[in-house]
Amino acid sequence: MTTVRFAPSPTGRIHIGNARTAILNWLFALKSGGEFVLRYDDTDTARSTQEFADGIAADLHWLGIRPHRVEWQSKRFARYDELADGLRAAGRLYPCYETADELDRRRKRQLARGLPPVYDRAALKLTAEERQRLEASGQKPHWRFRLDGRTVEWHDLIRGPQHIDTASLSDPVLVREDGSYLYTLPSVIDDIDFGISHVIRGEDHVVNTAVQIEITEALGGRVPGYAHHSLLTGADGKGLSKRLGSLSIAAMRAGGLEPMAVVSLAALLGTSDNIHPCLGYEELVEGFGLDKLSRAPARFDEAELLHLNAKLLHHMPWESVKDRLPGASEAFWLAIRGNVAKLSDTEGWRGIIAGPVTPVIAEEDRSFIAEARHLLPEEPWDGGTWKQWTEAVKASTGRKGKPLFMPLRLALTGLDHGPELAQLLPLIGRERALERLA
Ligand code: GLU
Repeated sequence: MTTVRFAPSPTGRIHIGNARTAILNWLFALKSGGEFVLRYDDTDTARSTQEFADGIAADLHWLGIRPHRVEWQSKRFARYDELADGLRAAGRLYPCYETADELDRRRKRQLARGLPPVYDRAALKLTAEERQRLEASGQKPHWRFRLDGRTVEWHDLIRGPQHIDTASLSDPVLVREDGSYLYTLPSVIDDIDFGISHVIRGEDHVVNTAVQIEITEALGGRVPGYAHHSLLTGADGKGLSKRLGSLSIAAMRAGGLEPMAVVSLAALLGTSDNIHPCLGYEELVEGFGLDKLSRAPARFDEAELLHLNAKLLHHMPWESVKDRLPGASEAFWLAIRGNVAKLSDTEGWRGIIAGPVTPVIAEEDRSFIAEARHLLPEEPWDGGTWKQWTEAVKASTGRKGKPLFMPLRLALTGLDHGPELAQLLPLIGRERALERLA
């Protein structure tokens, strides 16, 4: 059974970078018929809020992701305590009493001597008496995991064979002085308890993975498969961090973008496939494979997203939009969809069809327009009316091509561009056309 997870901290809303992680996990679950767990990493109870968690759930829903299971780390502290105690008993989790200042001084000393700034395990050498004395003086310990100091290897499903020597790392702090947990241990415990088969996340976690594999083994758990995707950069090649507010999924939704445009771009960016708009996940699942993801950073360009949004709308069927266009007709949608970049642009075309419109008629076209008005066919009108009408106008005025069509467009719509007039004309109708040509 394939089970993946997406594990955001509800200390803010998700942006395109996190959403990409969620989408890759969702596609992996869909492709393998597996399950997707939404896990809120809310061990930081001071910064996590229900509001952010609800917002993230709404963002995922908008992106078409439907978790099979939702979990909260804040409800699992008893379980973490239980397994942390086991690690203490096994000597893998040991108490340390250094203050932040002290550690900082030590690091600087090591760096000055050209040594790697790795924790020196001084606390492991404390005698029982020394520990008692520290505790008696009111010092509370934080707890570090004693690394094996070996080469941890795994076959990353995106990056290929990986090996990290944990002797080059500081023993990580898993539990703070106040007994609260850092991210590392709860994540491993949850991955074991929820039967996570594959961890798909950003490459900023590669080093964590070596540590987490050691912890998984220390807890007797099964090590999952790992895949670390590259991170997104802006179009300028720099990190996204400065513009994350505007790149939130909530902002994209409020900005009137289509969720499948966002999904298509997030799923195809940095892959060997062409970026093209997909109407649904089925289309993406078919060609999906982690092996298609490049290790190079993928560039996210808002202009490309907008372009993809327009392309998606240009072939979007009426069924997919009708609930969001109350009062509109299929004929209207088919007429204008090629001329919108966002769904909200339909409003402008509705206005141009229903009016009022300020017709544009050049002085030299006045008699031409009057003649055309006179030749306007009787209703009922359909897709052939435009041709029938313009043939008659051509025969009677001798005009053809642009000098024939453009003055008609300007008079009927007030614009020099827009959807096919053959499709617009029946929507405008004879009465309004007569008025605009007058
Ligand atoms: N809450 C962690 C993060 O957002 C989860 C990392 C992981 O997937 O393990 O970075």
